[in-house]
Amino acid sequence: MIKVAKFGGSSVANADQFKKVKDIIDSDDSRKFIVTSACGKSQAEDNKVTDLLYVVHAHLKYKLSADDVFSLIEEKYFNIKKELGLKIDLDKEFAKIKEDIKKISDVDYLVSRGEYLTALMLSEYLDAKFVDAKDVFIFDYSGDIDIKKTDEALHKYISSDEKIVFPGFYGAMPDGKIKVMSRGGSDITGSIIANVVNADLYENWTDVSGILVCDPRIIENPLRIDNITYSELREMSYMGANVLHDEAVFPVRAKNIPINIKNTNDPENIGTMIMESCVEVDKKKKPYDITGISGKKGFTVITCIKSHISSEVGFLRKVLSIFENYNISIESCPSSVDSISVVVDTEKIKKYLYEIISKLKDEIECDDVHVTEGISLIAVVGRAMVNKHGMSGKIFATLGENNINIKTISQGTDEICIVVGVDSKDFEKSIRCIYEKFIK
Ligand code: ASP
Repeated sequence: MIKVAKFGGSSVANADQFKKVKDIIDSDDSRKFIVTSACGKSQAEDNKVTDLLYVVHAHLKYKLSADDVFSLIEEKYFNIKKELGLKIDLDKEFAKIKEDIKKISDVDYLVSRGEYLTALMLSEYLDAKFVDAKDVFIFDYSGDIDIKKTDEALHKYISSDEKIVFPGFYGAMPDGKIKVMSRGGSDITGSIIANVVNADLYENWTDVSGILVCDPRIIENPLRIDNITYSELREMSYMGANVLHDEAVFPVRAKNIPINIKNTNDPENIGTMIMESCVEVDKKKKPYDITGISGKKGFTVITCIKSHISSEVGFLRKVLSIFENYNISIESCPSSVDSISVVVDTEKIKKYLYEIISKLKDEIECDDVHVTEGISLIAVVGRAMVNKHGMSGKIFATLGENNINIKTISQGTDEICIVVGVDSKDFEKSIRCIYEKFIK
């Protein structure tokens, strides 16, 4: 049995958190490959090291002194070193970073140092081997991970007897220059390692006991999702639920490796298991009709009205190509006999709205164009909805009974997700009443 265990920033925020990580690693020999984020927040007012490093870079860019911000970072690491009695020569490490950034003005090098130092310290504390991500995670020139080279570089560690700690979040370009992934990228590092070493399980340790049915800021103490499929998770994260980096699913999914979201502060909690198929677990325990509810505010609906649209071949393509020319992605596209609505992210369209309306009117001769702002999309996700009649009816009836007007509706034939658009003033209420009806 091989497990890859990735620890998020809050799991390594201070010496006490390091101790919890050690207990977790020591309690299970199969946790061989360990990935860490940079030290995160110890408490709400604290700062994440990565955020501070970006601030340092901004100061340096404008030729301002970054000494105060740098001291905050140093203080964090020196405290951990002192409390855990580590030997690491932090003076030397920080002196090198300060020296390097005089030559390497590149932001990526600087912000990667959070993960680098955290992993160095964690490896000493766990008595594990440290492998620098720059030597094993190789990007190609287009900025994507070069899986072939990364696979080759990681391969020699597969049968290592020692436990290994890798810093997450960064790698190197073919010329050796450090490159970071997008924020939260350590999840991707862990997922790629799990793929290469053919792990049996990818554990993602964080500060919540798994994925919740819906946002706890909307429903107090919502239920935890015990099991969820990769596809359901994709739908939920697309619509705003973010426990795991979006891109982290693909490497493990390619090899059917389950992901277990676990809580470093409550390791006995089973957390959430993410798998390709939940058929077996569902046989033992019938799932709720709905696995999760997520949603996002801030959408605009542009409705193009023209008589006989439905019989005009190519009309939809013409409408969509106008949006494409402005590089605007479409969330959904409900239509009727004489109208087509296009749902888009308000922030993305804001700048071009009037130009787009004028093109819709002049170039493709819409009779009229209506714009509705302040729309929220709510995704109701559930594998148990597949082939189950009456689900959409029940969801719509629930909203109707609560005086919520539905503006748009969409569902694909895979039937695992129904998305409704409502006025943003009804966003929280919609989630609450769907939760009450289907989960509670
Ligand atoms: N430290 C980086 C961030 O804060 C990467 C990570 O934590 O995964 O985004």
